[in-house]
Amino acid sequence: MVVATTPLLDRFGRIATDLRVSLTDRCNLRCSYCMPAEGLEWLPDERVLTDDELVRLIRVGVERLGIREVRFTGGEPLVRRGLADIVARARALSAGLELSLTTNGLGLARLAGPLAAAGLNRVNVSIDSIRPETYAAVTRRDRLHDVVEGLEAAAAAGLGPVKLNAVLLRKVNDDQAPELLEWAIAHGYQLRFIEQMPLDAQHGWSRAAMVTAEETMARLAKEFELTPAVAPRGSAPAELFLVDGGPATVGVIASVTRPFCGDCDRVRLTADGQVRNCLFAREESDLRTALRAGASDEDLAQRWVTAMAGKRAGHGIDDPSFLQPDRPMSAIGG
Ligand code: SAM
Repeated sequence: MVVATTPLLDRFGRIATDLRVSLTDRCNLRCSYCMPAEGLEWLPDERVLTDDELVRLIRVGVERLGIREVRFTGGEPLVRRGLADIVARARALSAGLELSLTTNGLGLARLAGPLAAAGLNRVNVSIDSIRPETYAAVTRRDRLHDVVEGLEAAAAAGLGPVKLNAVLLRKVNDDQAPELLEWAIAHGYQLRFIEQMPLDAQHGWSRAAMVTAEETMARLAKEFELTPAVAPRGSAPAELFLVDGGPATVGVIASVTRPFCGDCDRVRLTADGQVRNCLFAREESDLRTALRAGASDEDLAQRWVTAMAGKRAGHGIDDPSFLQPDRPMSAIGG
């Protein structure tokens, strides 16, 4: 059956084609900038979408709403049981769909091969330090070796280009940007530094304490020659720079100090079936209840279109009236 496609258009003319799907709010790390040491109260199982519900919503997005890329995230997506099967079912929807995964890498050594075989294209792996003691201080878990093994397995399985995400925290790892970059380049991974955002469950973020992209660049520039990469950035969040003339690059994602909302092409689906038109949205649209009440694909698509139309021009972090979303990053899907 051929169905008409309605783009996920907002009133500022942006069209969302990149769907971030959170598979679970649970995580096996406790990164200090994300959640408290004791963890959070997880979603009850009955609120989390089943595999069938999840795949149905992805299908509606792909078949009816022009979604061209699906990124699985969380929480930690690798802790979701049956992940390779979900990936395979998403792959079966369309051979041309870009499928990627954002992960902390724990368990990737075992799962990289099956995920690649299921049709996953790429992974982004979060690693904030290559010093075991700093990694353990940030994540509250002594698991750096697992991440390193996971990265090797991802590269070997062809899940490249393998990208690394790092968040710098003042007086914790902000002096380690150059060594992280050197290590990434030596291993053939593409490193990007993400500015810390006000999305932690503890509400501990402060504009004054966060490490800005400018500071990160200044620190890197003491050891590397950085020149803006010529390829147009498009809707990609990372600004890319050639390192020492290239071909290696480094990216900075300056979500706070140089927001890129005007080029945003993203939409999010939480593990409990809520559409969010922005990471910082304060409203969600409940597709789970509609789906469980028997809504048709057309009805679900229409609700989704309506949810996107109301997307705000920008996240407004720098605005004095900014209010942090009720749900933390781990529950929204980073
Ligand atoms: N567990 C997976 C991981 O570690 O990549 C996926 C979810 S995690 C929320 C996605 C990314 O968001 C990670 O790179 C993490 O470092 C980043 N992140 C979490 N909280 C953040 C915050 N407050 N500001 C900036 N980035 C954050």
